[in-house]
Amino acid sequence: MPAIEAVGLTKRYGNRLALAGVSLRVETGECVGIFGANGAGKSTLLRILATLVRPTTGHVRCCGLALPGQANEIRRLIGVVGHQTYLVDDLTAWENLDFYARLYGLRDAAGRIQDVLDRLGLGDRAGERVRALSRGLQQRLSIARAILHRPLVLLLDEPDTGLDREGRDRLQALIADQVARGGAVLLATHSVEFGSQVVSRALFLDRGRLAWERPVGEELAGELERQLRRRP
Ligand code: ATP
Repeated sequence: MPAIEAVGLTKRYGNRLALAGVSLRVETGECVGIFGANGAGKSTLLRILATLVRPTTGHVRCCGLALPGQANEIRRLIGVVGHQTYLVDDLTAWENLDFYARLYGLRDAAGRIQDVLDRLGLGDRAGERVRALSRGLQQRLSIARAILHRPLVLLLDEPDTGLDREGRDRLQALIADQVARGGAVLLATHSVEFGSQVVSRALFLDRGRLAWERPVGEELAGELERQLRRRP
């Protein structure tokens, strides 16, 4: 059963067609990258798969469950990093994760929270309020939140934003771990360098359409750069 199966997705905002008939399949044990220029539709696609936005037309299944009817069940299976952090500014890093741990009904919440904080290099910042954390540290905490409940599918929209080299290395290790344990990752990024290090397959969105698909290989980074430069 594929981790994600989307067929004929379109999304219209007024007169603007943000997605124009996108179909894709992501298998378990793979990390698929979505590349494309500003406004190509990457976030729209990820937000639909994350159950945050309804498509105008088309069908989505996640691990066999269908949207929109099984959205609640799907939300337990996915971890989402988006443009918003989904963190509460006035709560500490620990309190934020504890809130989500309760929401997911996690057993051994304290152990798991410590584990994800350590994996993102935040072990010594647990007691600090989110508003006191730098942009990159908030991004790390947002990633910690997304993996807290051990989701089968990670939907990552520009997760490398604001991360330093060490943060990107930690993110790369998390993605490799997710893939190695049979999970799936769908990742949008503007960093061809970061993307080509972590994805096993690349999709290229151009004005709402899937224009191009390529398995990872030596030529991937160069080809992506060429595609991105072709756009006005
Ligand atoms: P970026 O690389 O800049 O993040 P993207 O590839 O993620 O871009 P989207 O955010 O998916 O692109 O946007 C696709 C198109 O849909 C754009 O033209 C955008 O302006 C439009 N759009 C997105 N969200 C909305 C909205 N809520 N209302 C109206 N138009 C929207």
